[in-house]
Amino acid sequence: MASIQFLGAARTVTGSKHALFVGKKTLLVDCGLFQGRSELKELNWKPLPIRADQIDAVLLTHGHIDHIGYLPRLYKQGYRGPVYCTRATADIARLSLPDSGRLQEEYADYANRKGFSRHKPALPLYTEKEAVRACKLLEPIPYYENLALPGKCTARFLIAGHILGAAFIQLYLPDGRTILFGGDLGRYNVPILKDPDEVSYADYLLVESTYGNRSHAKDPPRERFCDEIKRVIETGGVLVVPAFAIGRTQELLYYLSQMEQEHSHEPLIPVYLDSPMSAAATRIYSRYPQLYDEETSEMLRTSGDPLSPRSLHTVTDVSQSKALNFMDGPAVILSSSGMASGGRVVHHLAHRLPDERNTVLFVGYQAEGTLGRRLVEGASEVTIMGETVPVRARIASIQSLSAHADADGILRWLRGFKKPPKRTFLVHGEPEAQEALDERIRTELGWETAIPRLGDLSDLG
Ligand SMILES: [Zn+2]
Repeated sequence: MASIQFLGAARTVTGSKHALFVGKKTLLVDCGLFQGRSELKELNWKPLPIRADQIDAVLLTHGHIDHIGYLPRLYKQGYRGPVYCTRATADIARLSLPDSGRLQEEYADYANRKGFSRHKPALPLYTEKEAVRACKLLEPIPYYENLALPGKCTARFLIAGHILGAAFIQLYLPDGRTILFGGDLGRYNVPILKDPDEVSYADYLLVESTYGNRSHAKDPPRERFCDEIKRVIETGGVLVVPAFAIGRTQELLYYLSQMEQEHSHEPLIPVYLDSPMSAAATRIYSRYPQLYDEETSEMLRTSGDPLSPRSLHTVTDVSQSKALNFMDGPAVILSSSGMASGGRVVHHLAHRLPDERNTVLFVGYQAEGTLGRRLVEGASEVTIMGETVPVRARIASIQSLSAHADADGILRWLRGFKKPPKRTFLVHGEPEAQEALDERIRTELGWETAIPRLGDLSDLG
């Protein structure tokens, strides 16, 4: 007897958490934080329908906060079991969870000082210290190794593309049936990482649907990035790129290295990487060259570290970060978070948005309710940390840089299945995207699908 309960990323793109009940055991796949709209963030404060001490093991598909960021909360509720993930994901979690705790502490402090939170006093979901303690539960497992789990289940981590260390989790029930937890599905033929592994069989499948209703623009991202750099060279402005610390930043650094190689005679404009988290994530990438694709491995052999362009200045302390406010362009500032929902980039936006010489370049998905989404949708002014900021800077975005497969990419991966799963659950998407993908899967592949709601329990027999 097995059943699955959807505790997050159900008709939304954050908060990934799937509880699997097998006999008397409970496994939790992904332990993500809800992000974006305030009613979603409120969910992080609500207790889970299962008690933390009744969960027997946690498995993580990858290190993004919307897949791991609830872990310290689970720890606070008493969870002390193992947390299995790939080695690179464990490294990323040790970096990003304490960072998440620290950001929450800082944000709560700031909200209390400025008095703009609805909660009095504003509290962090967890602290940096609590996140560090939760990280002690991480148990790294190599890709493709069989992992014995409670409830006589076994699991293997397969390569998912997406970000370093990302995995599909192929989980075998005691009766031999398999459930494939797709986590976030990466793309084919993108820089740095290998393509997602082909999967040919699963009885039940959970597949993400972030871009289920979209095709990534075909415009080559490197050329678009290069064009935006040229534009600020002309205006003398600053190009602010809110970039996800893990994945997107490394892709941009890779493109910068490529540009430098190809335009080695041209003067370089300075590129400031102003995110300790992004710098540390880049160091983690450099520790796993075995996970690089052919092209990146070749670049590493022939021209040195592809993630360390010559024009790069890594900003470490806060005073250096503040000093960037007084810097004239042209220059590039890469800073996180990618949706401008926190981190140092928020301060850069507050400072650079009112000047029309500047450009803000978004390079990834902007969830509903985030500052990034408001800017991309053309807001003429925005509220940043309680202050009204006029938007005069050029707002641009490169859609083609996503770490997620688009609808065609998802379908391509699904076509690798030799036999339809008994049921395919669409998770991790906003409703319009999910419905569009659902329609394609049913009509083009003839598979049985479901779009679970938060809290839905599905019996797997
Ligand atoms: Zn992800």
